Amino acid sequence: MTEALTYRWWLQTTNWWPQTARVDSSNKAGYNKAAMIPQDLLDMLVCPVCKEPVVLKNGTGLKCGKCRRVYPIQDDIPIMLVDSATIDPN
Ligand SMILES: [Zn+2]
Repeated sequence: MTEALTYRWWLQTTNWWPQTARVDSSNKAGYNKAAMIPQDLLDMLVCPVCKEPVVLKNGTGLKCGKCRRVYPIQDDIPIMLVDSATIDPN
């Protein structure tokens, strides 16, 4: 929990989080309600275990293609913590 809060603080205090992710996107084209993670941010995110790129899964998590961990997205912020991840059997 502390790690997640620290991560969120870090996101808020760095400038790389795209502005478009902060606004209410309910009436914006290009994002659906479940997945509002911009592609350029997705391209920067990697699995903390494998250092492999992650992909959006069902708009609710980010899945590592190597170890199959799925990292949750909470309040449009991807939680890239091993302790928060679930293993996708597929
Ligand atoms: Zn992985």
